[in-house]
Parts: sequence; C-alpha cells; structure tokens
Amino acid sequence: MQQNYTIQVSPEEANNPSALLDYLASASANPLSAITGFHILKKSIDARGRQIRVNLTLKAFISEPFVERGLQRFNFPDVRNAEHQVIIVGAGPCGIFAALQLIELGIRPVLLERGKDVRARRRDLAAMNKEGIVNPESNYCFGEGGAGTYSDGKLYTRSNKRGNIDRILQLFVQFGADERILYEAHPHIGTNKLPHIMVAMREQILQSGGQFLFEEKMTGLVLEKDRIKAVLTASGNRFEGAAVILATGHSARDIFELLHQQQILIEAKPFALGVRIEHPQTLIDSIQYHCPVRGEFLPPASYSLVQQVGNRGVFSFCMCPGGIIAPASTAPGEIVVNGWSPSKRNNPYANSGMVVSVEEKDWHSKGSPLAAMEFQRGVEQRAFTAGGGRLVAPALRMTDFVSKRISADLPDCSYLPGVLPAPLWEVLPDFVFKSLAEGFKAFGQKMRGYYTRDAVVVATESRTSSPVRIPRDPELLNHPQIGNLYPAGEGAGYAGGIVSAAMDGERIARCIAAIVNA
Ligand SMILES: Cc1cc2nc3c(=O)[nH]c(=O)nc-3n(C[C@H](O)[C@H](O)[C@H](O)COP(=O)(O)OP(=O)(O)OC[C@H]3O[C@@H](n4cnc5c(N)ncnc54)[C@H](O)[C@@H]3O)c2cc1C
Repeated sequence: MQQNYTIQVSPEEANNPSALLDYLASASANPLSAITGFHILKKSIDARGRQIRVNLTLKAFISEPFVERGLQRFNFPDVRNAEHQVIIVGAGPCGIFAALQLIELGIRPVLLERGKDVRARRRDLAAMNKEGIVNPESNYCFGEGGAGTYSDGKLYTRSNKRGNIDRILQLFVQFGADERILYEAHPHIGTNKLPHIMVAMREQILQSGGQFLFEEKMTGLVLEKDRIKAVLTASGNRFEGAAVILATGHSARDIFELLHQQQILIEAKPFALGVRIEHPQTLIDSIQYHCPVRGEFLPPASYSLVQQVGNRGVFSFCMCPGGIIAPASTAPGEIVVNGWSPSKRNNPYANSGMVVSVEEKDWHSKGSPLAAMEFQRGVEQRAFTAGGGRLVAPALRMTDFVSKRISADLPDCSYLPGVLPAPLWEVLPDFVFKSLAEGFKAFGQKMRGYYTRDAVVVATESRTSSPVRIPRDPELLNHPQIGNLYPAGEGAGYAGGIVSAAMDGERIARCIAAIVNA
C-alpha cells in the first residue's frame, strides 16, 4: 500500500531518514519493518514559533516493495527535416523552453543569441567584477541562458495560472538539476549549477537538429504585408521562418528602440525600482530563527517583506541568503545591481532587492512608449556618476540612508567592483528614496534588528521587470499588428522570473504549433 502522510518534525529529524521511518510507522500504526521506504512530496520550514518545525508530506510504501521516485522523461524528436522552422530571438529561459517545446511538437527552432556561450561569457563577467568593464553583448543579462544562467536560480513562482510549473521543474531535473527542486517549497538551483543545465539544454536542441547561434544579434526586421519576412542580424545574416518569437529580455533597450523605429506598437509600463540591501547572514539567521546561532540542520534564513508607505508599495525582491551582489549593468555608464547565491548558499552575506513601484504618473515625456525605460536609465546613469566610474556602486549604511547622511565608512560588502559612500537621495527619485527610508524603519519593527547600521544599501536595483510591454492578442498571443510576431517572456512584459519566462515560452510555442500544424 502507498499512503501519504503530512507530519511536522524538528529540522534534525527532517534530515534523519530513520527518524522519518519511525514517524511513518507510528502514523500508519504499522511495525517499522512494514515501512519499506518513502518519497518526500513537499517540504517547507515553519520558523514562526520559537520551536522551528519542518512540514513534510511523505508518501510511505507500506508492506510492498519500495520504488524509486519516477521522474518524468520528455522526448525530443529529430526535427532537422521538419516542415516548419521558427526563429527565436534570445536564448534566455523563455527562448530555450520555447525551443524545446517546439521540438517536442515537431517544429525546428532557430535560436539567435546576441551573447556568447556560458564558458566564453564567464570571462566577460570576470572583467566586470575585477576591472569594472561592461561588454554590452556579454554580461549577467546577455548570453547563453540569458539572465537565468548566472542568476540565483530560485524557481519559486506564484504564476501557476500561466502554465504547468511542475513540467518546468521536471525539465530542469531532466537536464541536471537536483530532484529536491520537485518538492521544496522554495526550490533553488544556485549559480554554480545553472550553467551546466543550460549547456545540457543547448546540446539537446542541437542533437534534435535545431540551430543555436551565438553572437547573432537581431538588428532589424524585414516586414511584408503585416508579417515578418526575415530577421536581420548584425553579422549580416538573414533568417526566415514561419513565425518569430521575440524573447529578448527586459534589458535589450535597443530592441525596444528598434521596434519603435519600425513603428511596431509597444507601450510604457509600470515597473519597480530601488536598491539592494545586504546584511550579515548571521544577523538574518538570528532574527528569523530566534536564536544566536543557526542550527546545523537549518538552511541560511531568508525573508520576504512588504510595506505600504502612503500610496506606494515597498517590497523585498529576489532575496539571496548566503549570496553575492552582482553587477547587472548591460551598458557602460550605468549601475545596475542584482543578487545570486551558490547552491550551498554559503557566503557570509544576505542580500535582497528592496524596491518601490513606479507608475505612469512618475515618468517624464508621457505618451512616449520609451518614457519608463528612459526614466529607469536616468537613475542608473546617476548611480554611475555617484559611484565615480568603473562600476563602483554608490552605497550607504542603512541608518545613514534613513538619516540622509553620508556614511563615514561602509561595512564589508560582497559587491566585487566596490562600493563608495554617496548621497543616494540624489541618485534615486525623491518618492523612491522617501518610501524606502520609511519602509526600512517599518521593516525594523517587523524583524527586530533588520534596521541597523551594519546593513549596507547599494544602488540601483532597477531591472525588476520590463519598463515596456510589447502587446499581444490575449488568445492568439501574436502581436496585434504583425501576424507572425510573438513577443514573449520578461522583456515583452509577460513574465517575471525564470519559471514564468519558461512557461511563457512554452505557451507561445504551443500556440504557434497549433497554427502552423493546422
Ligand atoms: C543576477 C540575477 C539573479 C536572478 N535571480 C533570479 C532568481 O533567483 N529567480 C528567478 O526566477 N529569476 C531570477 N532572475 C531573473 C531571471 O533571470 C529572468 O527573469 C529571466 O531570465 C527572464 O527570462 P527571459 O528569457 O524572458 O529573458 P532573458 O533571460 O533576459 O533572456 C533574453 C536573452 O535575449 C538575448 N537578446 C537580447 N537582445 C537580443 C538581440 N537583439 N538579438 C539576439 N539576442 C538578444 C539576451 O542576450 C538574453 O540572452 C535573476 C536575474 C539576474 C540578472
């Protein structure tokens, strides 16, 4: 017999299979010898009370042989001689999952990526971190796997209406992710593991007869009778296909400009903007776990904070326990930060984006579809000037930020290009600065010890979501003016994060397949 049980155990017991077998024997009123094994179906930590508990849902095998967890396996047929091919611009999670789904549906994908493969890309990331040099074609956002490759790899999403989250997680496992992502409440892969997974996905696409081209940057579209005839690239190549999936991410400003120039409808959209906060991880652990030192069976603690300040929402975003603040600029002369952590989350810092919603009333030159993007760029450029160049980020101690005072010195910070005390009230728009200052004080009430001079506030966290939407038909998912153009993923405004971008790519691919295979 197989039976599911939900139990609450201590962190130590949760890590001890024989203790769990004991629990299952007692819960099922069977002798221990009858429990032949179990699978974990769900796991979450409840740290609200003094006693930290782990919630587990287990599938017990009782008086029958234990069977290992059955992993779903997806088949990718050979599509090199397929009747149709589809051009995908951008090899981020959206573009790659769209390509895999097209292959499953018998269509040949041709992926065009402006950046380099994961290995070559690593050298450009080192140049950013060590020398402050930004390659506008190869950085934390551009290159194989897009912004997802050197991201934190948190796979938690609330977008369950947009697609099948479990299928995306199963695909990650098929290409090398740990099975734990299938049952943990907040699955996480880690920056050290993601590149291998992206390479395995690329190899599958190539093996199935798809194309995956690097340093192939889209620079134009040939339009004919409201359809795309061809995609043109900087290297002088021309690509044709039954449809074009535009999955270029939220940082490809040149793509938004190109669409606008070619009179393809785009719209300015609200986004969020702020800073990244870094605390010592030990401090966050002690606050969240109510003890001076984290127990050995507990993961580095995270947090999620939200506060209404006047009519603005202030909220934490992309929290990285045991992480690093990374330079996420995509052009020289701007400072953008983001965060990542390795799979073990074993750095001594806890960082998180802390952002404020930016709405239409805030940006200048209203009416222009690029207005929100220009507003975002202006803040990033002011941060660059305040940091004094070479990707040094302007920063303040949290208490000095609130008191509007330049810090005499700064705590150690994981941001490798370096941080410099600077007047962040001159960098950030006034409403962002004031909302954050109020938010920090409120968060100090919710999490005692959070509001501290030991935390450093680093500007700017500005690429939370796209400042532009590329509209599409709600059902057919194509652009309202260009029949075979499919805007997709985060850059088009239809996703936020790895899993939702991947689901959007799949959805678009299924839509295209339904049309071309009809
Ligand atoms: C440091 C960091 C940490 C992050 N951590 C997380 C996390 O933990 N969890 C999470 O869910 N999300 C995280 N994110 C966000 C996540 O990576 C993105 O939401 C996701 O990658 C968006 O997927 P996408 O495919 O829509 O776009 P992108 O990943 O942005 O991919 C777009 C691709 O298009 C390419 N491109 C752009 N212009 C052109 C052109 N003209 N021609 C050809 N190619 C082009 C780019 O080079 C890029 O590879 C993080 C991001 C960063 C930078």
